[in-house]
Amino acid sequence: MKSSFKPPFNPTAKAPAVASRPAFPVRLKPGEGMPSATKLVATAARPTGNAAKNGFKKSVPAAAPDGVGLDSHAVRARMVHKLAAQGVSDARVLAAMGLVERHRFVDTALVNQAYEDTSLPIGLGQTISKPNVVARMLELLCQGAAGKLDRLGRVLEIGTGCGYQAALLSHLANEVYSIERLRGLHDKARENLRALRLPNVHLLFGDGMIGYAKGAPYAAIIAAAGGEAIPPAWVEQLAVGGRLVAPLQTAAGVQALVVVDKTPLGVKQTVLEAVHFVPLKSGTS
Ligand code: SAH
Repeated sequence: MKSSFKPPFNPTAKAPAVASRPAFPVRLKPGEGMPSATKLVATAARPTGNAAKNGFKKSVPAAAPDGVGLDSHAVRARMVHKLAAQGVSDARVLAAMGLVERHRFVDTALVNQAYEDTSLPIGLGQTISKPNVVARMLELLCQGAAGKLDRLGRVLEIGTGCGYQAALLSHLANEVYSIERLRGLHDKARENLRALRLPNVHLLFGDGMIGYAKGAPYAAIIAAAGGEAIPPAWVEQLAVGGRLVAPLQTAAGVQALVVVDKTPLGVKQTVLEAVHFVPLKSGTS
């Protein structure tokens, strides 16, 4: 099937330079400025700006991984077509979904299911959400107040998992800070993303419940794990005009998608459809 989808902009275009942020590569002093209780370590992409100041390790470029023998362009275009038919309408999101090779983020045994509308295991009891849910959340994120711009500014993702959504975000935002609490998955995401060379993605190992204050304020925050309340740190670290999208356990005992908009007049929360995400947990492991 041919896709008739045509992105109206070039999603691979370079992010506009942010005047206040130093260019990279930068010299890093390990541990500088990081209180031990909140220490986060980034090891994947090249750090810039605040990340550099806070003692991030520079990544070591590695050889690109072998392909998996899947001519994925057509099958991905089909997935994008289906997403559009299901109601995803934001051209930025559809373009990103068409660009990022989901099959590179799952085990080789699952490659054939990578473009089906299904969640898939990514190890350590965690899952990658189905494309439809990922696209829906990204669309909500992009359509906040900051979404009137072509690209989001700085974005915080809680729950890096395999790194798939972080790769999508790299096409939608100027800077992506993504936190994972499980070392095994943080390492896996670093491996998965290394070959993509996304200089605006910063992977952090730590407890995302406390957010990442050094990168704040964020134009958008997205969580891929659901708790019983939105951690106050997330709302604090959200810019005025920014939007947060997260799964949340509602009073009815059902997990639902929640949108939090931080406006000059206060914080507005909207509860949307039911979803099934892995639990948000504190601490690291
Ligand atoms: N966006 C991911 C989805 C990962 S599933 C992807 O594209 O693959 C959700 C992830 O959230 C899991 O890896 C889980 O370990 C992580 N998680 C749960 N609680 C967390 C916390 N407090 N801080 C950081 N990550 C957390």
